[in-house]
Amino acid sequence: MQSIQMVDLRSQYERIKGEVDSAIQEVLNTTAFINGPQVKKFAEKLANYTGAKHVIPCANGTDALQIAMMALDFKPGDEVIVPAFTYVATVEVIALLGLKPVFIDVLPDTYELDYHQLESKLSPKTVGIVPVHLYGQCSNMEYILDFARNLNLKVIEDTAQAIGAVYTFSDGRVAQAGTLGDIGTTSFFPSKNLGCYGDGGAIFTNNSSLAEKLQMIANHGQKKKYFHDSIGVNSRLDTMQAAILSVKLDHLNEYSSSRNRVADRYDAAFKNVKGIIIPARAKNSTHVFHQYTLQIEGGKRDELKFFLQEKEIPSMIYYPVPLHLQKAYLEFGGKEGDFPISEELCKKVLSLPIHTEMKTDEQDYIIEMVSSFFN
Ligand SMILES: *Cc1c(COP(=O)(O)O)cnc(C)c1O
Repeated sequence: MQSIQMVDLRSQYERIKGEVDSAIQEVLNTTAFINGPQVKKFAEKLANYTGAKHVIPCANGTDALQIAMMALDFKPGDEVIVPAFTYVATVEVIALLGLKPVFIDVLPDTYELDYHQLESKLSPKTVGIVPVHLYGQCSNMEYILDFARNLNLKVIEDTAQAIGAVYTFSDGRVAQAGTLGDIGTTSFFPSKNLGCYGDGGAIFTNNSSLAEKLQMIANHGQKKKYFHDSIGVNSRLDTMQAAILSVKLDHLNEYSSSRNRVADRYDAAFKNVKGIIIPARAKNSTHVFHQYTLQIEGGKRDELKFFLQEKEIPSMIYYPVPLHLQKAYLEFGGKEGDFPISEELCKKVLSLPIHTEMKTDEQDYIIEMVSSFFN
């Protein structure tokens, strides 16, 4: 058995090597490294796949969030509601733009922001909400969108971990993660479900005037070269990355199915193990399992992590510290005890290896070792 990895990008590459290599070679042949035709082609392909009217490629998922907030004209001092339990990027761009992050706790089973608490987070300065579709399934978008619409707040979906997840509204309407709110953002970091071979990101919207603004801000605030209508940033998806992503997008459904197969096998193996809580499935969303994350009870998480490490099984803690308690963000007034669910989760979550190339014998070994820890 090969050494087990959290994500096996090498085996994945080997399986699509022919397609990827020729896509890269084509870029090399034309040397259109920036804004080559592959960028537009990929954006169109991704729009077609997700059902978003507009896709604006950019340099990474963090830029995508920043550009989204700039395009929505959020002004310094404005407040944006964000979950305390997520990756730092979401809150980082809020702080960078001089906005104020207003943290909200998450639900203990699906990890989405606790929408019951939205009302209590409102102030006259609230301008937006950023639901994060953590680990690969959608937040309760129906509730969040209704809530936001009534108060004229903007909704930016952080879809970095959930590309391809499908949400069903109570009236039967079906749409993909990232296309539900005013703007959706995603990341093509190599380990993400649709990952490139470097950095990359994209922004989704169904609103044409917002799309134009997003495009302009991502390109130095210009529509016409050297004429700058607004302050922008330089955030581009490389042609090479776009070419690779076009190839990989054709495999995304198959990748999501593989991840689900791995998750189902883990679920079946762990659902009756005392001390383990398996991932809960959100009611109205499919899951694309960017992470397969267990909750380990009885204060045993770190001990299990160490035990697995000894058996050469990697595992990861996403995330060890909630954002309101991160040193950089203490200035926003966070204190221990403010968000008990997020704080507790940071002590309990453990993500196991999950990827598109997981072999049955590898997974059997992981299952056997995790189970043996609890017996
Ligand atoms: C990965 C990630 C990002 C940032 O994406 P980058 O491409 O690394 O900038 C943002 N939010 C979440 C939830 C992520 O997982």
